[in-house]
Amino acid sequence: MSDYIIRGMAADQQVRFVAATTRDLVEHARQIHQTSPVATAALGRLLTGGAMMGCMSKNDSDLITIQIRCNGPIGGLIVTSDARANVKGYVYHPGVMLPPSKAGKLYVGGALGSGVLTVIKDLGLKEPYTGQTNLVTGEIAEDLTYYFASSEQIPTSVALGVLMNKNNTVRQAGGFMIQMMPFASEETISTLEERLGRFTSVTKHLDSGQSPEEMMEELFEGLGMTIEEKIPTKFYCNCSKERVSRAVISIGKKELAKMVEEGEPIEVNCHFCNSHYNFTVDELEEMLKKAGAKPAVRL
Ligand SMILES: [Zn+2]
Repeated sequence: MSDYIIRGMAADQQVRFVAATTRDLVEHARQIHQTSPVATAALGRLLTGGAMMGCMSKNDSDLITIQIRCNGPIGGLIVTSDARANVKGYVYHPGVMLPPSKAGKLYVGGALGSGVLTVIKDLGLKEPYTGQTNLVTGEIAEDLTYYFASSEQIPTSVALGVLMNKNNTVRQAGGFMIQMMPFASEETISTLEERLGRFTSVTKHLDSGQSPEEMMEELFEGLGMTIEEKIPTKFYCNCSKERVSRAVISIGKKELAKMVEEGEPIEVNCHFCNSHYNFTVDELEEMLKKAGAKPAVRL
């Protein structure tokens, strides 16, 4: 496993950053979801962004979900990450094909069109925190930048990239998020803006052999930078037959009774990781009993 995320501070704590290399997990997502190149790029960018946002959580038990609903041919995407950068996700229409953009690149913005980005943070409180913004370009990095500015009021520079091989497997994937603290000086801000303006692309840097550490060292050269943590990141789904059976039970007694009557085993797929779970008629009958059981009386 060569994917990881670094988290750190720079310029006397005026700036915090995360930077990631995520080729393996994006390639894994491509394989399980059989995504087209433009869908691989869209999902890979959001998985990378989600994994980094997971790492920025305050508590180990925090969960972050980023949902995009859009009117473009991809339909939408969902990514969920925990604080340890275990990330999973899927796109609604993985087979979407589009001609390249004017710049000759995979046209992620065209695949998404216009829509809404929602960030749901489950911080273990009664109600999750939810922030919602409109898509700006549909290219995802810009959309997350806008989300941070308008919903969290944190000036953030977001870069995300997925580079494909000729055979449509993933060659490089990665990204970074750089956030200005409220007390950041004008000098620090303008220095960084100037350097970010010159920065080509994450995948170009990764493809030239640079690590996320080296990328950040280049951006923060002379400003002082400390890496606080290096976190392995991976595509991970926590589904299991038990969880899926609970989901099936939750559709209700009537529906379950119908399935038992039909007398056919059923197959249920996990959207996130595309695992298949089979339930025999006997198992469905067991589940029907559970669905019919009266909930325990709470004292
Ligand atoms: Zn799953």
